[in-house]
Amino acid sequence: VAARLNSSGFLRTLGLIGGKWIEAYDGKTMTVHNPATGDVVANIPCMGGRETNDAIGSAYNAFRTWSKLTAAERSKCLRKWYDLIISHKEELGQLITLEQGKPLKEAIGEVSYGASFIEFFAEEAKRIYGDIIPSPLADRRLFVLKQPVGVVGVITPWNFPLAMITRKVGPALACGCTVVIKPSELTPLTALAAAELSIQAGIPPGAVNVVMGNASEIGDALLASPQVRKITFTGSTAVGKKLMAGAAGTVKKVSLELGGNAPCIIFDDADLEVALKGTLATKFRNSGQTCVCANRVIVQEGIYEKFANAFSHAVQNLKVGDGFGEGVAQGPLINDAAVHKVDSFVQDAISKGAKVLLGGKRHSLGTTFYEPTVLTDVKNEMLISREEVFGPVAPLLRFKTEEEAIHIANDTNAGLAAYIFTTNVQRSWRVSEALDYGIVGVNEGLISTEVAPFGGFKQSGLGREGSKYGMDEYLELKYVCLGNI
Ligand code: ADP
Repeated sequence: VAARLNSSGFLRTLGLIGGKWIEAYDGKTMTVHNPATGDVVANIPCMGGRETNDAIGSAYNAFRTWSKLTAAERSKCLRKWYDLIISHKEELGQLITLEQGKPLKEAIGEVSYGASFIEFFAEEAKRIYGDIIPSPLADRRLFVLKQPVGVVGVITPWNFPLAMITRKVGPALACGCTVVIKPSELTPLTALAAAELSIQAGIPPGAVNVVMGNASEIGDALLASPQVRKITFTGSTAVGKKLMAGAAGTVKKVSLELGGNAPCIIFDDADLEVALKGTLATKFRNSGQTCVCANRVIVQEGIYEKFANAFSHAVQNLKVGDGFGEGVAQGPLINDAAVHKVDSFVQDAISKGAKVLLGGKRHSLGTTFYEPTVLTDVKNEMLISREEVFGPVAPLLRFKTEEEAIHIANDTNAGLAAYIFTTNVQRSWRVSEALDYGIVGVNEGLISTEVAPFGGFKQSGLGREGSKYGMDEYLELKYVCLGNI
């Protein structure tokens, strides 16, 4: 696959600074692996602070011209970038499967989803309206202008190698900002391919830069620079907190999409088929490695046994294997450490009284595979309910009343996505309003779309991505007072 992709003309294995493909200044490299096989896919430069500072410098220079283009001109470039991503959908999908592991069909789905942010924000670029405020004084006129914040540091994780980048870079470029991207070192090739396509689309050199290598050194350089006016990050809560604290030194704006602990509440009055399908989708997408994956399946006592058995049956039918395999629904986890974490949570739950209905151990396919697992009799105090499991494990908790379900659901510091399954419309409103979560799916397990705001309450983050609200994150408001007229 790597060889075939190599001839596609968009595979890049160097950093991108000021429109040039660059090695690490000290020549250091690191390797990218296929998580399904452990094979080395590519060598990439291991960069640090010096390269990052140069990338910031070129983004700063490019900002002068990019931000001065008309919205229509920026929009055209973005639209072209979208078209190029779509015309490389298959190859980009293959690249995602190769370095991230998700099944090819899901990977191609990510390309469409990721590209949709570029298309959407290409359109939004033309709708950055200001305001005219009625003046309290007769000889004045008051205006509000919206202007790009400046250079943006973009730090992304490995679970959506393309979409996590486009949902940040799309609105940033649309607003007139320029970016320094630091993709995850586990999945940099998709980011580099997307950056190459941005150049082919006519987005000027320096507007999009990509550095990778020593994450904390690159992060520190981004945080220290007064030229970087904003950090946008998706990843772990621990790193997000570090970045937020680090941004204080230069008072940068920050947007954070951090960990979730999504409850998926199944009421007795749920449509069983809808609940099964929705829970399966939200739990097992990307082998459970998304921040909106159901982390706790909270089931009412009247439907508990029936749901548990039917769900376990459905999970049993998920084919596990290399993401390139025919009919595979569950690929590998990102690395051995991820499997180790998942297994330690499962073993902890079992030792505290949870029962294994299905799976519950490493998969015979290899060190990065885990058996799709269903646990029953899980309690909210167990580690598996407190932390994000980020793997193919569905812990089933039990509740009696609506109040109890809401209490269990909200009893966490996270607040990203929540799901409820009920056919009672009053209940669906009551519970949606009572959940301390930024996103609520009612009778639906797949809720992400470029047209709706995505983001969390509490320690799940700050700011929103996607939708018209996603633009605000990259804009400053400027109040202009025109006096003595
Ligand atoms: P995950 O568990 O999803 O890998 P991380 O928060 O560890 O979450 O990683 C998300 C992104 O943050 C990755 O690109 C990673 O390299 C980067 N990262 C990790 N540590 C730091 C840091 N100290 N400064 C800046 N970026 C970091």
